[in-house]
Amino acid sequence: LLPEEDSGLHQLVSEIIAFRDRRNWAQYHNPKDLAISLCLEASELLENFQWRTSDEAVAERPAQIRGELADVLIYALLLGHSLGLDPEATVREKLSEAERKYPAGKAYGSRKKYTELERED
Ligand SMILES: [Mg+2]
Repeated sequence: LLPEEDSGLHQLVSEIIAFRDRRNWAQYHNPKDLAISLCLEASELLENFQWRTSDEAVAERPAQIRGELADVLIYALLLGHSLGLDPEATVREKLSEAERKYPAGKAYGSRKKYTELERED
């Protein structure tokens, strides 16, 4: 395993930050505006699905969906960076939490929320 600092994700964040800094945009990248931008890009992603079935959207708008998903990922990484969060640790922490809330034995094939799963004890 590679040390965390050398991971592909950390390299990617460095490239995004370098892109931003070459344009002197850090001055606009406060957590609030990055959170707003993340939501706006998520809405642009959703727009590709509006009035289409899931299958139609994926078949008809692959490049647009890919582009908006990239925007979402970039803003998510920028927001995490601005908050001093390690993206991999942040996701792994959430995954362990989800592992506790949704044990595979109970949650397998179920769309119930964890609070409903717990009630079945
Ligand atoms: Mg966009």
